[in-house]
Amino acid sequence: MTKPQIGRMLVVGLGLIGGSLAMAARRWDLVGEVWAVNRSRPSLDFALQQGIVDRVAQDAETLLPELGPGDVVVIGVPVLAVGPLLEQLARSLSPEVTVTDVGSTKGWLVQEAQRVWGKLPEALVPSHPIAGSEKSGVQAAHSDLFVDHRVIITPTGYESRRHRECVEELWKGVGARIDLMSPEHHDEILGATSHLPHVLAFVLVDLLASMDEKREVLKYAAGGFRDFTRIASSDPLMWRDIMIANRAAISESIDRFEQHLDELKDALASESEVRLMKMFQRAQATRNAFVRQSEKNRAGE
Ligand code: NAD
Repeated sequence: MTKPQIGRMLVVGLGLIGGSLAMAARRWDLVGEVWAVNRSRPSLDFALQQGIVDRVAQDAETLLPELGPGDVVVIGVPVLAVGPLLEQLARSLSPEVTVTDVGSTKGWLVQEAQRVWGKLPEALVPSHPIAGSEKSGVQAAHSDLFVDHRVIITPTGYESRRHRECVEELWKGVGARIDLMSPEHHDEILGATSHLPHVLAFVLVDLLASMDEKREVLKYAAGGFRDFTRIASSDPLMWRDIMIANRAAISESIDRFEQHLDELKDALASESEVRLMKMFQRAQATRNAFVRQSEKNRAGE
């Protein structure tokens, strides 16, 4: 792991991801001081008590003017909340300060930055850690959340080398592996691999909840139901924002999913054992390969 030379890191939105980054940066001595802004006060008090942060405020406006060259702002709020926050940054933050984020969609942030600044700033380097869970809040944060996980950096094409290197070093410093892709490509890929599975989990649980036999259905739901629907316990507000911000790519993924469901329904209607076997064998092989690869990555191969 390398050590970036960051003076102060201000995390705006001290939840699971922002809090984990704060803890990791502190644990591996990557930053001089950690500052945090959060809407709810109890999270800030908890972080101060635990020694996760050095200084806190409930409004970014009070801390932003104090930051300068060598400092970093990390945006850790739900994705639709970035607009008003970027307006504060444009008003009160030195253009010398590196700005990154952890949001699950990237096109929205870039579009909002373009709206707020009128052009994409050199200091903005968007990123998305592929790490997390269905839990929320700084109380669930832990310092090794990013170790051996991928972080997708989506350069806008307008960022300066200094700011980009600073963000890359920060993520490497907390143990992550960096991938680069465009914001548009990121949103397409994550729309299929992360956002669609959340759509399916939310819709399935909501469907079962609406059934008259709800109590009986849940009583007999077993391990498969638990495995498949774990992510439906995720924060509704966070997912409302992701769905709206990435609605075009998610809608395309839902269309493709519907086509596959129709194929399955056809195979059932025609009692086609062969078509069902082909579909399930393909899916099984793909899932097994994915699990093998994840295990290799975890073992550092
Ligand atoms: P979280 O709910 O744990 O934390 C978000 C925090 O932001 C909360 O403490 C909330 O009080 C605060 N907040 C909300 N609006 C604010 C505002 N305007 N100003 C200041 N604070 C504000 O959420 P999280 O899981 O840490 O997710 C944060 C971001 O990370 C989201 O954009 C999400 O898409 C992204 N992300 C989440 C995961 C995951 O698995 N949870 C993984 C990767 C990326």
